[in-house]
Amino acid sequence: MNSPVAPLVDRFARRITYLRLSLTDRCDLRCSYCMPERMTFLPRAEVLTLEELYDVALAFIARGVRKIRLTGGEPLVRRDMMQLVRALGRKLDDGSLDELTLTTNGTQLAEYADDLAAAGVKRINVSLDTRDRAKFAELTRRDSLPQVLEGLAAAKAAGIRIKLNTVALKGINESELPDLIAWAHSEGHSVTLIEVMPLGEVEGDRFDHYLPLDAVRRDLEARWTLTASDARTGGPARYVDIAETGGRLGFITPLTGNFCEGCNRVRVTATGQLFMCLGCEGKVDLRAALRSENPEAALADAFARAMGEKPERHGFVIDRPGAAPALARHMSMTGG
Ligand code: SAM
Ligand code: SF4
Repeated sequence: MNSPVAPLVDRFARRITYLRLSLTDRCDLRCSYCMPERMTFLPRAEVLTLEELYDVALAFIARGVRKIRLTGGEPLVRRDMMQLVRALGRKLDDGSLDELTLTTNGTQLAEYADDLAAAGVKRINVSLDTRDRAKFAELTRRDSLPQVLEGLAAAKAAGIRIKLNTVALKGINESELPDLIAWAHSEGHSVTLIEVMPLGEVEGDRFDHYLPLDAVRRDLEARWTLTASDARTGGPARYVDIAETGGRLGFITPLTGNFCEGCNRVRVTATGQLFMCLGCEGKVDLRAALRSENPEAALADAFARAMGEKPERHGFVIDRPGAAPALARHMSMTGG
């Protein structure tokens, strides 16, 4: 991949500078809004090798991607994933990447925090929906809250900045959100609230727990002083600063607000499928391109197709009971 390659720009003149790369579809938790208890995972042979994942990352970097977020499934359950993190960390050193980060459920973070920091990871997103151990065990179907809290402490001690991602769930963590936010801010972590999205079949009906964030925001405004912030992290979140807690709170509202117009990102699954939009079916097969006789030409062709097909916006709907998932694939395929 030495010849000059065209930067990634879609039909709506949006420049793609941000890649979310999934290392695995496997996970050690079973969050009930994300996947069923008996989730069918992919056969290992279908998943890209670490070398292939690295080649995918290089192909994006060559086309102008400056930020890579590793995700999953749970990225830290992939064996030897630190090799890839270190290799990508060297792209930070040579100036070809601005940021390498990761989204994790935190269960394995205590083990990897120091290595991640040493490889150049400065910020991570940790998903945490509740600090109540029984609720956590019920929601994730695993009793792992102590490990997650240990992981958070280890990452903080390693000097990694932490953003908590919290899915707001009616009747589950709704009443706990102010406490969770106040605690996170007292620890120096920022928090982003997320609306549940209709991705993949799960056992229950997500509508039962769908909590629109405009309602949460009104509730928080009755309690605290929220000041809109123009901080942006290159993502779809909109932020407020909370005077009383001294921390920042983000809202990601895929269902009640349109966040598509400034989209700068694409996602690649662990099998090398390039999804141009979290909320749409369109995809391009990078694995086939990588494994073809002429990967360079096949990748160039795949990227051109992807940019021609990236949709203007997603089409999620969750606001009625019993609605089928908008998309068959689970969030654990494309990562957060
Ligand atoms: N396992 C890692 C974790 O939990 O952080 C990374 C992958 S997980 C799919 C990424 C994020 O997606 C998590 O914050 C999770 O809460 C969120 N998520 C999963 N399914 C979702 C859904 N249906 N709607 C909204 N967010 C979802
Ligand atoms: Fe695993 Fe993350 Fe999905 Fe929870 S949200 S089941 S931790 S992939």
